[in-house]
Order: sequence, then structure tokens, then C-alpha cells
Amino acid sequence: MSIEIRKVTVLGTGVLGSQIAYQTAFHGFDVTAYDISDEALSAARKRFEGLAAAYKNDHMPGADDKADAVAAGIALTTDLGAAVKDADLVIEAVPEVLSLKQETYRKLGELAPERTIFATNSSTLLPSAMKDFTGRPDKFLALHFANQVWKMNTAEVMGTPDTDPAVFQAVVDFAKAIGMVPIELHKEKAGYVLNSLLVPLLNAGMALAAGGYAEPDAVDKTWRIGTGAPMGPFQILDIIGLTTPYNILANSPDPAAAPLAAWLKANYIDQGKLGIATGEGFYKY
Ligand code: NAD
Repeated sequence: MSIEIRKVTVLGTGVLGSQIAYQTAFHGFDVTAYDISDEALSAARKRFEGLAAAYKNDHMPGADDKADAVAAGIALTTDLGAAVKDADLVIEAVPEVLSLKQETYRKLGELAPERTIFATNSSTLLPSAMKDFTGRPDKFLALHFANQVWKMNTAEVMGTPDTDPAVFQAVVDFAKAIGMVPIELHKEKAGYVLNSLLVPLLNAGMALAAGGYAEPDAVDKTWRIGTGAPMGPFQILDIIGLTTPYNILANSPDPAAAPLAAWLKANYIDQGKLGIATGEGFYKY
């Protein structure tokens, strides 16, 4: 028997949680969003309004008619029990701190109905590290979105050895139903597919520039012309913003990472060149 998903609850209404909630509601699902304070919920309502404007600006089909109503229609609460009492699927997008996620799943496992599926949007933590806290490892997996979900619409679906294949399939079907392209992983992999490809590319580009081999724009030009890709690694880094890659490199145990972090800091971070958001990164905007 196939599993039906109609009611969806999103935990955490920050950058990604707000986008996941909005994208899901935009596609006609009944959505509740939970966060820990009234301030966070007011910020969420503003994020939904910003997303309505972005969907209209990007000409998403149907946005002119319904984008504002979708933003207003997402239920918001700080009561976790009320948020999940009737949920078919809970998508967790709380901060990337393992102990916080584990504690969230421990509470959730007690409060949600037995049938409820739990999915983590974690970028760097494996679902295996959380599954034993859910009380239902067969109904738990990762569903990983990329920032700007309505445009960068991959949804990587990755279970643990305990995930029920019917649950996996239901989440793949759900991802399609909210306008995503589901990417199925057969087993757990840190970085999923996208970051397993992207992070080495970005690091290789930075190593070429930091090592004095070629300028960033020459690296990008090579990648574009040589592969037909629309953007090179430094164009992508300017979109991501340089702070997150810097923090990852600065905290990496890999000895090759420290010189890249130092180069980024001296030439870009310390000069306020953080990417498109600040008007300049590797390029001027
Ligand atoms: P964020 O800091 O923007 O948002 C986190 C939200 O969670 C905040 O609104 C915060 O108030 C709330 N929160 C804090 N503690 C909570 C709790 N105990 N229960 C519920 N909510 C709580 O973070 P984000 O960038 O949206 O990241 C959230 C998750 O999404 C992380 O696991 C991250 O790895 C993943 N992710 C982020 C991106 C990205 O580009 N930002 C992309 C893919 C996946």
C-alpha cells in the first residue's frame, strides 16, 4: 500500500526551513512551520513574504495568482506537540548541530503519531547519526534541498540501512509533487551527490589561484570553455558567499585546507569581499 503525504510540518524556519515550507505550501500541501520563539516566527512570516516576491519575480507558474496567499496560509507555532500531532511528514531544518538534532528527534519521536515520517535536511551530518533518537528508524531518512529551492530544485533522498523502501519511495514521490527533481542515493555519503562533486571543484580552483598558477577568471574561463558549464568555480563561490567556504577550510583537519583559508582571508575576507551579497568577491558586481 502506498503511503499518502498530505500534511507536512517543517521544523526550523531559517534560510532553508522557510523555503522548504513555502515551496511545499506553494504546491498545495497543508503546511505547518515550527520554531522556538515568537521572534523567530515573526521573522518566518517576513521570509515567506520575501519568498512570495521572489517567486513572482522569477515568474514561477501560478505565482502572480497565489504567491501572497501561500505566504499567509502557512500555519506557524512554537508548540512542537501541536505542530506535529497530525503530520504525515516532518522535515527538520534546525541548526547544523548534532546534539540539537538528536534532542529534537528524541522529543519528536514521543510527540508525533506512529505513522509520521521524519526527514532531515542536514547538509553535513549523516542520518545514521540521528536515527536511533527518532524511535522509528524505518521511517527516517535525509531529504536534502539546495538554497533557493524553487530554482536550484534538486532534492537528494538518502536513507540509512534501516529506512523502509516504501518510506523512501513515498519521499521521492513527495519531492516530485512539490516541484523538485529527486536524486536517489543508494547508500549514505557525506556531501550527498552535489557537494561530493562541488566541494572538490571549488577547492581545486582555489588551489590553482592561491598557488599562483592562474588567476580566478582564467580558471573560470577554462572550466566554461573546456566543459561547456555555464559557470566556473569562482563564479559559484561568489554566489555561495565566501564566509561558509572559509569557515569550512579554516576548521578542516586536511593540511591542504589551511593555506587556502589563509589566502581567502588575506585577499578577500579581510577586505570585505565576500561575494555577490557585498558587491564584490572574486568579481565586481
Ligand atoms: P538557519 O540558522 O538559517 O535556521 C535555523 C532555524 O532553526 C532558525 O530559525 C532557528 O530559530 C531554528 N531553531 C533553532 N533551534 C531550534 C530547535 N531546537 N527546534 C526548531 N528550530 C530551531 O539555518 P539553515 O541555513 O536554514 O540550516 C538549517 C538546516 O538546513 C541545517 O541542517 C543545514 O545543514 C541545512 N541546509 C542549509 C543550506 C543553506 O544553504 N543554508 C542548504 C541545505 C541544507
